[in-house]
Amino acid sequence: MNPFYHKAAGAPADPRISAKDSGETHRYLRKLCLLPVCGMLLSMWFCILFFCTRSGYHRPLLSMGLALSFLALGWTLFLLWLLEERLSAFTSDLCRTIDRMTEGGTCPDAGSDKETLKSRINCRLLRLYQIMQTQKHAAEKEHQKLQQLITDISHQVKTPVSNLMLVTDTLLTRPGSAEEQTVFLKGLKNQTDKLHFLFQALLKTSQLETGAIQLQKSDTSLYATIAQALSGILCQADHKHLSVTVNCPEELCLPHDRTWTSEALFNLLDNAVKYTPEGGSIRISAELWEMYAKIDITDTGIGIPESSHAAIFRRFYREHEVHNIPGVGIGLYLTRKIVTLQGGYVIVASAPGEGSTFSVFLPRHF
Ligand code: ADP
Repeated sequence: MNPFYHKAAGAPADPRISAKDSGETHRYLRKLCLLPVCGMLLSMWFCILFFCTRSGYHRPLLSMGLALSFLALGWTLFLLWLLEERLSAFTSDLCRTIDRMTEGGTCPDAGSDKETLKSRINCRLLRLYQIMQTQKHAAEKEHQKLQQLITDISHQVKTPVSNLMLVTDTLLTRPGSAEEQTVFLKGLKNQTDKLHFLFQALLKTSQLETGAIQLQKSDTSLYATIAQALSGILCQADHKHLSVTVNCPEELCLPHDRTWTSEALFNLLDNAVKYTPEGGSIRISAELWEMYAKIDITDTGIGIPESSHAAIFRRFYREHEVHNIPGVGIGLYLTRKIVTLQGGYVIVASAPGEGSTFSVFLPRHF
């Protein structure tokens, strides 16, 4: 019987390599060698007997001993040859399966239901193959995401960079009046500001995504965080004659990262200012729920159709209607990242012409 195809009767269906496999093989080899060893021992015994008695009458016994020794030797050689044959067949089979797996990406056969050593190895190979396939698909997905990111960034950078080149060329080749130069320089500043903002936002998202920056949650005043976010938009809101109201209990404390949460709220407030026409209003309210603190930012702006509610959180996504308003489409993506990293979530309720409410939910406990 071939040791590599034997049925391990009653063996557990544990796919891990067990000591049982090698134990069975050793037992089998021991059984194979037992016969020649017995033959040799018998021959030795006859030889000893012969020399001890030193008698010529024992010559037939000696011949028998010698014959048995040759038989045992022949038997051993035959068994070794058989073993080598089976081993090389088994190794070639294994190599072929591994080659097919690595080169052609072919799924190895799980083998029969019989619990043989071959089927156990095939089972493990199948598992290895599945892991390899999963990793391959994950790597392909990552590659596609990276490609998409590069395309998006190039697309975002293309316009400001070509504008910069155009303006600098004009300034160098057609020196106009001081007023004209000021207009061009303002254009230059706008484009460099846009590029600066884009790179800062990309840097922040990559730092958060790669874990280079860890959010530090501490039990701190939500009122102060909202105030920090508000300080960034009050000037523009005043410029557009927007009324801003806040309804948040001053004593409200919550475990959150002050800097990053105020950045997330600032993005929502900045959008509220950008997408609300002059004379509109922005309302910020915070209340405690059982598990979360809910922060609502409501505006009377242009609103968002329901079909875009999921898309607006994607990187670089912008509605067609807002192309004349400055922006790169990364604010909401960053906001959601910051909030989810703290165990919370963001939702939107909005309709065109009816304003928008962005609700941020932050967990009340660490
Ligand atoms: P950006 O404002 O730079 O375009 P965001 O990621 O902050 O990027 O927003 C993505 C898109 O979602 C915006 O381009 C806009 O179309 C829409 N949006 C976000 N906030 C509002 C809002 N308060 N009112 C109307 N539309 C909004």
